[in-house]
Amino acid sequence: MEKIFKIFVDFDGTISKQDIGDSIFRRFGNKEKVEDIITKLLSDEITAKQCWLSLCDSVEKLDKNELNEFIDSIEIDHTFHNLVDYSKKNEMELFVISDGFNYYIDRVFDRENLRDIKYYSNKLKIDSNNKLIPSFPYLDQNCTTSANCKRNHIINNSGEDEYTIFIGDGNSDKYTVQFCDFIFAKDDLLKYCEVERITYFPFNNFNDVIEKIDELKSRRRLKKRYQAELKRREIYINE
Ligand SMILES: [Mg+2]
Repeated sequence: MEKIFKIFVDFDGTISKQDIGDSIFRRFGNKEKVEDIITKLLSDEITAKQCWLSLCDSVEKLDKNELNEFIDSIEIDHTFHNLVDYSKKNEMELFVISDGFNYYIDRVFDRENLRDIKYYSNKLKIDSNNKLIPSFPYLDQNCTTSANCKRNHIINNSGEDEYTIFIGDGNSDKYTVQFCDFIFAKDDLLKYCEVERITYFPFNNFNDVIEKIDELKSRRRLKKRYQAELKRREIYINE
């Protein structure tokens, strides 16, 4: 039987080389406040939603052109294009799931000719007083490290017989990876998987990921990750 893989990719720091969400606020927000807010998020004192609300609040005057120029200056990992091509060629559905904002993801995907990628994120508007107004259409109380509950997108977009692949780097992915079969991790997410003893593949860029997926695809027998299956089952039963 043909194996079905679903690929889920984090955006900030995974597709984009820099965390655009954080760096926007470091650039345009009140520096001290921003560092304090991010520290609180990383030590679980505040939720991701509280973090974004406070960060948006820390930006007093925003020049939209400067913001756009700043976003345009941030590069993506160009090997991401290879993964997109690979997923199309092999008929694997690929979703980007981000705890960042549509405002800059749209801008980056437009620039990179990746407009047709399916993605889920938080939303960000700039109002007539140049204030940043965030909103969170995919908020779930159970997901405190990501205001866009990545877990739900993974569960809603994959079936029991399908293999879920997650690729990420950071805080917003920590809760999420528990529900996935194959995890590609770097930076903070890699450390988290080590500490929590979650099986993962380290990666530097998407070419490493493609090579590994290709190998998984060719295995005669491929097991799903048992701990992930248990975690998913808990959700079905409790919610
Ligand atoms: Mg990230």
